[in-house]
Amino acid sequence: MFCALRLSDLGIKDVAVIERNDRLGRKLSATGNGQGNISNEDMSSAKFLSSTGDAKTVLRRFGKEALLQYMSSLGGLFNADETGRIYPASRQASSVTDLLRFALTDRGIAACLGEKAEFAEKRGAFIVRTQKEEYLADFLVLACGGKASPHFGTDGYGYALAKSFGHTVTDLSPSLVRLRTDPALIRGLKGIRTDCRVSLKKENGSKKRTLFLQEQRGDVLFTDNGVSGDAIFRMSAFAETGDFLYLDFLPEIGAGSVAEAIRHKIAMYPDMRAEDVLRCIVNSAIGRAVLRRCGIAMDGNAKDVSHRSKYLADTIKGYMLPVKGTDGFENAQVTKGGVPMYELEDDLESKFTENLYIIGELADIDGECGGYNLQWAFSSGAVAAEGIAGRGSACR
Ligand SMILES: Cc1cc2nc3c(=O)[nH]c(=O)nc-3n(C[C@H](O)[C@H](O)[C@H](O)COP(=O)(O)OP(=O)(O)OC[C@H]3O[C@@H](n4cnc5c(N)ncnc54)[C@H](O)[C@@H]3O)c2cc1C
Repeated sequence: MFCALRLSDLGIKDVAVIERNDRLGRKLSATGNGQGNISNEDMSSAKFLSSTGDAKTVLRRFGKEALLQYMSSLGGLFNADETGRIYPASRQASSVTDLLRFALTDRGIAACLGEKAEFAEKRGAFIVRTQKEEYLADFLVLACGGKASPHFGTDGYGYALAKSFGHTVTDLSPSLVRLRTDPALIRGLKGIRTDCRVSLKKENGSKKRTLFLQEQRGDVLFTDNGVSGDAIFRMSAFAETGDFLYLDFLPEIGAGSVAEAIRHKIAMYPDMRAEDVLRCIVNSAIGRAVLRRCGIAMDGNAKDVSHRSKYLADTIKGYMLPVKGTDGFENAQVTKGGVPMYELEDDLESKFTENLYIIGELADIDGECGGYNLQWAFSSGAVAAEGIAGRGSACR
């Protein structure tokens, strides 16, 4: 949608968007918990992941400011929340879709709805075949998204189209997704959201040396069979089955101070139930999970666990959960991997097929949680449009 608009602005005629759904922008309308987090104040390149290149060149050509300026010129108003995430002032993702839809209609850009592009080839011109029609075009932009959340129309078919033009596709995995763990280890925690420092570690080799992989800080939300929330979504890009998450439930307080607080409580109330020792130190459900993990009976006596104050504190500061997998593409927000960036020119034209462009999630760039994936989708669409406009004088 965004690329089509930019093409039209740059004077390219006869632009059409082929969309398999019966309306445009279904996924866009669901983004940011329905609020549409389209960009972020912090556009550092570390926020974008790729094993085959990077997002820098594209973002330099069309970055956050350019996006906001353009979206505002279409009649929208945008602002950032306290963490730097940029949303429409309406806080409605669907209003961003509307903004683009109105502009497409206004410019007379055709939307061919309910048409899945099933086949594409280049015989002089591009031929794109859907169930209903055959389209001819001088330029073709593949913007089919990835494999994440296929109920929005993104079943990964775009990769097949890219392959039909000689492209390869890296390994694909779901990202910005919940991580599964052993349900027994999070019993009683469902629904609890808490600020944590989360570390990801891997046990390496037969000597079981632990390798530190990643650290994230933010919300963790416990579910039936795993963990979700901001920090986990960001971690999901790196986690593999067999890795271990360590949750620090008190990221601002050192282990020594936590142990001291526990000792102090026990010294004051030696006959207190063990269950109550961690009250007002951590969330009570988390406290019970920690006691269970340490093998301490809830109805035991506080004084009997005094010698385990350090163990309790260490468990609060590093609650280990094995990663048993992810919630899959079905529930992921983005696809990690895609068409290798080294198979694309700086303006995202295919190095194998002239006048073919590959943009958005289909390319091997995925962003952190926080508006980076939409920024990439918009930026890559704008840059491809510039590329086409630079070559497409015949289409004006
Ligand atoms: C629930 C959810 C929340 C998200 N929230 C955010 C957020 O707040 N901020 C953020 O930055 N990112 C967010 N994302 C990620 C972001 O939405 C995507 O990365 C981005 O939309 C990708 O843009 P795209 O244009 O590449 O593909 P898409 O937006 O996925 O669009 C591709 C379109 O192509 C259509 N299509 C696919 N194949 C064919 C075909 N063969 N023929 C015709 N049409 C086809 C699809 O139906 C779809 O409409 C979220 C994702 C999800 C699922």
